[in-house]
Amino acid sequence: MKRPALIFDFGNVVAHFDYRKAAGRLGIKLGISGEELLERLRPLGFSDLLKSYESGKISAEQFSEGVGRLIGLEVTHDEFSVAWADIFTANPSVAELIAGLKGAGYTLVLGSNTNDLHAAQFRRQFAETLGHFDRLVLSYEVGHIKPSAAFYLACAEAAGAEPGDCVFIDDLAENVDGARAAGLVGLLYTTTETLRADLAALGVEPS
Ligand SMILES: [Mg+2]
Repeated sequence: MKRPALIFDFGNVVAHFDYRKAAGRLGIKLGISGEELLERLRPLGFSDLLKSYESGKISAEQFSEGVGRLIGLEVTHDEFSVAWADIFTANPSVAELIAGLKGAGYTLVLGSNTNDLHAAQFRRQFAETLGHFDRLVLSYEVGHIKPSAAFYLACAEAAGAEPGDCVFIDDLAENVDGARAAGLVGLLYTTTETLRADLAALGVEPS
């Protein structure tokens, strides 16, 4: 492999997230816990609704209306947006690794299944770390979601590299498999220590 381009998943790699935070805020309005709200949403087709939203097929307004309809929740779009967006916390060891990789001159691309409300939140909240990335490939903008091959090919194109010269790092095995199927090198993120070792094995070292 040539000096590879490095593509990072966002959620639970660059930063952590927890949907229970959003569910907790919405659950209060129904008098139930966040856990109960998520339990209720699961069999009602929430993941299909989220998929439509994160592949850019429906707008934030349609998504919040859709969630409200699923669970019988009446909130304004603004109330929903505030509750929905703030779910992220830092992953400092990965932030440090990213800064080091940028310092060593690697091309860095973010490859995230996400939506406009979350992206607006995380771009603000993690502006410093995301500033090290050359490009952000966001599912709702490109119209493809992991693990579809088109998503990974869009990431390689954004990196200006052949798929075989790209390393895709993700915490979900399904997404790593998808990257490999599209011809990229896939690395499963478990701990930052393991990731550093896996990158070193490919000859990739931060500054
Ligand atoms: Mg993830």
